[in-house]
Amino acid sequence: MITPRYHREIPQRYRLEAGKCQKCGEVSFPPRLVCPNCKSQEFETVRLNDEGKLLTYTIIRVASDKFFGTTPFAVGIVELNDGVKLTTQIADVDFDQLKIGQKVKLVFRKIQDEGKSGLHCYGYKAVLV
Ligand SMILES: [Zn+2]
Repeated sequence: MITPRYHREIPQRYRLEAGKCQKCGEVSFPPRLVCPNCKSQEFETVRLNDEGKLLTYTIIRVASDKFFGTTPFAVGIVELNDGVKLTTQIADVDFDQLKIGQKVKLVFRKIQDEGKSGLHCYGYKAVLV
């Protein structure tokens, strides 16, 4: 069974939807109910730019049960071209190739299997460009 949280996050996970404050223009990802900059509660939905640069990264060698069997993998903080920063797994990369400041692009990928049924959960991961 799919969890309520996963279901709620589908617009962000599948389409990179963020909330843009209509008063000050601050973009929040994931979307918020109140703007952290000006306290406004009026937002429009915008789609984030899917390209950016790698700010920092680490290699996960011992992971939680959900990611058992997938280690080692790289996780990084990516700053997208529109200024939004997010944490994401870095896929399809030899760890020796990773460098801070590299250009990356977000792609749609399987993130994990959930529950006893092994339901596939999807979202975004970064790949080098
Ligand atoms: Zn605002």
